[in-house]
Amino acid sequence: MSIDLNSIAWFDNDYRPLSECNVNISTHALQYGTMVFGGVRGYYNINLGQVFLFRLAEHCQRLLRSTRIMQMQSPVEADEMATILLELVRRNEYNCNVYFRPFIYKRDLQLSPRLHDVNDNFAIYSLKLDDYLDTTRGMRVCVSSWRRISEDHIPTRSKASGGYINSALAKSEAIQNGFDEAIFLDHNGFVSEGSAENIFIVRDGKLITPPIGSSILEGITRRSIIELANFLQIEVVERNIARSELYICDEAFFCGTGAQVAWIGEIDRRTVGSGEIGPVTSALRDKFQKIVIGEDTDFDHWLSPAYS
Ligand code: PMP
Repeated sequence: MSIDLNSIAWFDNDYRPLSECNVNISTHALQYGTMVFGGVRGYYNINLGQVFLFRLAEHCQRLLRSTRIMQMQSPVEADEMATILLELVRRNEYNCNVYFRPFIYKRDLQLSPRLHDVNDNFAIYSLKLDDYLDTTRGMRVCVSSWRRISEDHIPTRSKASGGYINSALAKSEAIQNGFDEAIFLDHNGFVSEGSAENIFIVRDGKLITPPIGSSILEGITRRSIIELANFLQIEVVERNIARSELYICDEAFFCGTGAQVAWIGEIDRRTVGSGEIGPVTSALRDKFQKIVIGEDTDFDHWLSPAYS
């Protein structure tokens, strides 16, 4: 996961080498975390010579919704944002898996933590990215000692950079204690999500995931997994999940743009199910992996091809 300063980014209304896309140290967003971001994956299909951006319209729409929470004015509409993202695939001549980071940030040089009367800017950079988490083996995870920020602290659905301090605290604690990832509980003590992933568990063949009210990000992969489960006639329940259910469930997995579908083998030193990837998780993961590279066309409306 490395950033190429020669790659072409979008900054100040134009395509420029990333090395030229810089901000002043007194920028509001840098001082106060007043930036909202998205994360979009491009999947390379070598046989088709194509890069597909996954659920591009939904990602652009969510980013614009985040700006409303943060009283920002996006300089671009959703359609324009999507067009720029597709153009960046072509300008960088990507023929690999790639991750885009579009974001809107408070650009003024201002000394005051506020949302109003600060001007905004829009930028995108990208990097080559295969797996963000190792999805070939079961993840070893722990319940974090940090609670998920709640709606009345920092709305998690805003995907605001400042809120990611919460994720960073949990992720580092987990890694430094020898785990791969953390699971947050919400302010009521129910399971919320991972540091940058939504979570699903399986109990008696039913797929269960925390509801929107459990301080989760409204994940686009989460929604996709629910649609896939409906398609595969797997029952889906959105309800509060108690911590102890993590210890007795048959299967568990994270999902997200970075994580994709990452199965969990162990939670708080208790083996999940048989300790192997379970049938519901593998059915969903396999279908998801084929869809994103355009090999399974059941959900091809989720894909935006970059090359004609
Ligand atoms: N929760 C958090 C906190 C995240 O940062 C992410 C990654 N964007 C997700 C869940 C997964 O969301 P998505 O599927 O839209 O990437």
